[in-house]
Amino acid sequence: MADVILKNVTKVFANGFVALKNINLEIEDKEFVVFVGPSGCGKTTLLRCIAGLEQVTEGEIIIDRQVVNFTHPKDRDVAMVFQNYALYPHMSVYDNVAFGLRTRGFLKEEIDRRVKDALEILGIEKYAKSKPRELSGGQRQRVAIGRAIVREPKVFLFDEPLSNLDAKMRVSMRAEISKLHKKLNTTIIYVTHDQTEAMTMGSKIVVMNNGQIMQIADPDTLYNKPENLFCATFIGSPQMNIFENVYENGKIKSDFFNFQVNFNEKELKGVYIGVRPEDIYIDRETDTYIDGVVELAESLGDVTFLYINIFGKNVVLKTTLHKRFQIGETYKVFFNRNKFHYFNMEDSKRIEPII
Ligand code: ADP
Ligand code: MG
Repeated sequence: MADVILKNVTKVFANGFVALKNINLEIEDKEFVVFVGPSGCGKTTLLRCIAGLEQVTEGEIIIDRQVVNFTHPKDRDVAMVFQNYALYPHMSVYDNVAFGLRTRGFLKEEIDRRVKDALEILGIEKYAKSKPRELSGGQRQRVAIGRAIVREPKVFLFDEPLSNLDAKMRVSMRAEISKLHKKLNTTIIYVTHDQTEAMTMGSKIVVMNNGQIMQIADPDTLYNKPENLFCATFIGSPQMNIFENVYENGKIKSDFFNFQVNFNEKELKGVYIGVRPEDIYIDRETDTYIDGVVELAESLGDVTFLYINIFGKNVVLKTTLHKRFQIGETYKVFFNRNKFHYFNMEDSKRIEPII
C-alpha cells in the first residue's frame, strides 16, 4: 500500500530528446489512476521511471514517503505488467507465476500459497499445469498479472495490458481489472492510449501529450470541462467540433456564429468554440438554425453519426432520430449554445463566459 508522488520529473534521453517535462502528480494510496495520451507522449517512459528501469534527469519520485530515485528497481516494491505478456513458453502457468518468487528465494510453502491465491483471484486455477500456448490471449494476460500479484507490491504499474486482445476480450478484461483493484485494494497506475479504457476504469485520469500533463481530473470533469483544446478533442467520439471565431467588442463572429458574450480575459483576439456532436441537433423546431447538407451517415443502430457540410466545413453530430438519411439532403441544424466550450485561440486554454 503506498502513495506515489512525482515532483518536477523530467526525463531527457541520451540523444537529447525530452520525453517528460516537469511532471507533477500526487497519487493517493489505493487509488486507481489512468494515464492516457497518444502514442509517443511518454506514458511508458513515465512508468519505467517509477519502476526504476529508467533514471529521471531531474525531479523526485517518492513512493510511500521515500525518495526512490536511487533505489534499485527490485527494492522499489512495484510490479509492472507489460503489453506483451512475456511469459516463458516452456513453463507451466504455475511456474510462470512462481518464477519471480523462486528467484527471490522465497520458501516453497509461501510460494505455493501466493501462487494458488493469485490463480484463484484471476480465475485460472484450472490452467495451473497448462503451457502459455494452450491459453487464449485473455488468459495469458491473466498469467502476466498473476506474476505481478504474487509479489504483493506496494504499487502495480500496467502498461497498455489489453492492447493485444480482441475487442470483446478487452471489454471483459477492463471490468475484471477494475474488480481486481477492489480485491487487491492497492495503488494501481494504468497506462493506455484508449480513451474508453481511461474513462471507464479511472477514478482519476491524467491526460498526457508531448511529455507533459494536460489535465488531471475525474472522467466527468474531463468530459464536461476540458481545460484545453487538446483534452477537448482527445476525449469524446466522434471528436468535438471546433470553430474558429474572431472576438471583438464582446462579440463572437464567424460564418457560424454571431453573438454577444463576455469573458474575464482581456485582450482576447480569437476564440475557439467547441461543440460536442450530441449538442448539435437536427430534430428541433427553432428559429436559429443553419442549413447543412448531409455528406455521410454512419448508423450504429441506436445512434447515427451525421457528417454535415455547413459553409464548406464538415460538422459531425450525433442523433437518435430513426430514419434513412440521404446524402445531399438539407437539414436545419441547431447548435445548443448552453453546451459550448470556449478556448482562447492564443494558448488553447479553456475560458469561461461571464453569465
Ligand atoms: P508512449 O508509451 O506514450 O507511447 P514512450 O514513453 O514509449 O511513449 O516514448 C516517448 C518518446 O520517447 C517517444 O518519442 C520515443 O521515441 C522516445 N524514446 C523512448 N525511449 C527512448 C530512448 N531510449 N532514447 C530516445 N528516445 C526514446
Ligand atoms: Mg508505451
